[in-house]
Amino acid sequence: MIPSDIIAKKRNGEELKTKDLSNFIKEYLKNNISDAQMSALLMAIYFNGMSEVELLAFIHEMIESGSTIKFEKSEFFVADKHSTGGVGDKTSLILAPVMAAAGLHIPMIAGRSLEYTGGTIDKLEAIPEINISPSLNEFKSWVHNIGCAIISQSKEICPADNKIYALRNQTATVPSIPIICSSIMSKKIAEGISGLVMDIKIGNGAFMKTKSHAFELSNLMRKVADSYGIKIDIIFSNMNQPLGRYAGLGCEIKEAIDCLKGNGPQDLMVNVFELCSCLLIQSGKAENKEKAKLIFNSIIESGKGFELFQKMIASQNGKLEQLENKIIPKFEKIVRSNKEGTINQINTEKIGWSLIELGCGYRKEKDYLDYTAGIEFFVKPGDVIKTGSPIYRLFNSDINRLNASIAMLNDTIKVVM
Ligand code: URA
Repeated sequence: MIPSDIIAKKRNGEELKTKDLSNFIKEYLKNNISDAQMSALLMAIYFNGMSEVELLAFIHEMIESGSTIKFEKSEFFVADKHSTGGVGDKTSLILAPVMAAAGLHIPMIAGRSLEYTGGTIDKLEAIPEINISPSLNEFKSWVHNIGCAIISQSKEICPADNKIYALRNQTATVPSIPIICSSIMSKKIAEGISGLVMDIKIGNGAFMKTKSHAFELSNLMRKVADSYGIKIDIIFSNMNQPLGRYAGLGCEIKEAIDCLKGNGPQDLMVNVFELCSCLLIQSGKAENKEKAKLIFNSIIESGKGFELFQKMIASQNGKLEQLENKIIPKFEKIVRSNKEGTINQINTEKIGWSLIELGCGYRKEKDYLDYTAGIEFFVKPGDVIKTGSPIYRLFNSDINRLNASIAMLNDTIKVVM
């Protein structure tokens, strides 16, 4: 196989042979194909897409690059949720323990920050000593004992996704529909799940900016799930504004805890419930959405969801009681409106990039993350504001990055009279 020949074929719009694609990934993992060559192939895929045959071959190879998990047949419905990525999206942290409290098993493999979107794993690592890279046996035993666990893609599970994911983040090749589909579905299939609910975000803070792109991705995901015998539900949710009241690292863990204690903001709780209701119905725990609502409410109101969250973190060696102290920011500043009127648009992608500048994501490979960093949002589209009204509160522990982040928030809200 000559890598540059394969790249040229994809660049010219030809369909690649299954064995060529498979070998390309295999050789990349063995470091016989360079990051530059893989980046070029990803860019060619970004521009020319993939046929269904290519997509299935790509996913197959990503799964085969590591081990897969098998859950023995048991009374528990094994399922998961994944999102295409957004700003302030801490839904997974709430859904996993709530579903475990409902009697499902959730072996969740989550991601790190991609471009301007937040990563569940980065947020979890705000919790002192948490283990997000267990052995497969440990992961299985956590899920078996607690009902849920959230870990990172690793050298054991989907190492190809792990390596390509980091590269995509540096090469502007993230928002490709077949690549997003293969990244997500390979991890989910490797988990050995029977059911999946997907949250495809649409809007100016999502990778899918339009409904037609979101529908294209959902069709592909359904085809892949069908071909692996996985039940799938897909919801489309609004990413024209950050989700919830906070976006960042440690502050999103705190907001997830608020939700589990019944004090979550409405937009976030609605999103969590929509996703949970799909899994409750898939698993047969609820016959319909109304019954799902009763189960969901009772888990939140009884405190069982929060209890499960605490157990999940403790089983992953996390020291939740040390979180507060670890995430005290050194600096904070409030950004106020210089206009009055009604907010009719929020540029969520720009807010996402300013969060990266603040310390919540990767400007380069292996960038330093600031777990104290985040933004509190005081407004949503449709709110009426006065000149001087607070819009954002930014906080972190590096004043230069805080100031740079504030500058990036310029013109992120559109106010009309
Ligand atoms: N989440 C993933 O795991 N991969 C993507 O490509 C996007 C979101």
